[in-house]
Amino acid sequence: MIQVKNQNQIVAMKEAGRITAQALLAARECVREGVSTYEIDQVIRNTIERAGAKPSFLGYAGFPGSACISINDEVIHGIPSKTRILKEGDIVKIDVGAFYKGYHGDSARTIPVGKVSEQALRLIEATEKSFWAGIAQAQAGNRVGDIGHAIESCVQEYGYSAVRRYVGHGIGHELHEAPDVPNFGTAGRGVRLCNGMVIAVEPMINVGVCDVKEMSDGWTVKTADGKLSAHYENTVAITADGVLVLTEA
Ligand code: MG
Ligand code: MG
Repeated sequence: MIQVKNQNQIVAMKEAGRITAQALLAARECVREGVSTYEIDQVIRNTIERAGAKPSFLGYAGFPGSACISINDEVIHGIPSKTRILKEGDIVKIDVGAFYKGYHGDSARTIPVGKVSEQALRLIEATEKSFWAGIAQAQAGNRVGDIGHAIESCVQEYGYSAVRRYVGHGIGHELHEAPDVPNFGTAGRGVRLCNGMVIAVEPMINVGVCDVKEMSDGWTVKTADGKLSAHYENTVAITADGVLVLTEA
């Protein structure tokens, strides 16, 4: 069932969102060649806990990290590790959630490590652009399919594909609530959007095919063809005043 939020609840979710954004900013500052994904995870955990919040992902279904940190052809759900060291030219996806006063925030960014390829920069740009194209459709009366259609159409213009196996989601007291918010769809189809819905819109965009494969660690998801993938996510609220991005610092 979709949990529609009232104005006070959206204000409370903005707090969780702000802490999430602060953790991502702190993480971005420590991204450079030679840093392990474990070190980044520790910075995220410390930032969230210092704000009096809890990392949403820590222990979620047994996940061992505070953030999901995925490199290059890893799409999502990378496990932070002391032996995963960032190299110049990598792109690193950092996905963070913070739980504060009963609500979750959820946000992800793709960050270049030093100088990266033109292709990587173009992918990062397209992925962010598709997020904004998607949330331009996040308004009462539209449907979930309008968001997905806008995202997929945007990246198809670049020749990229949107991952279908994993999707965005409602968010609130629970990290994952109804409805699913796919990064593909048919305009005019799917769940109708209304004011008070809070959703995490999160295009996962591949340079090559949309297919993905799960690794034997039980978490990490990679592109099936080994090509690059990027991720961009914010928690947003649909309101009578328009769509509000809650995961801003
Ligand atoms: Mg996320
Ligand atoms: Mg999410």
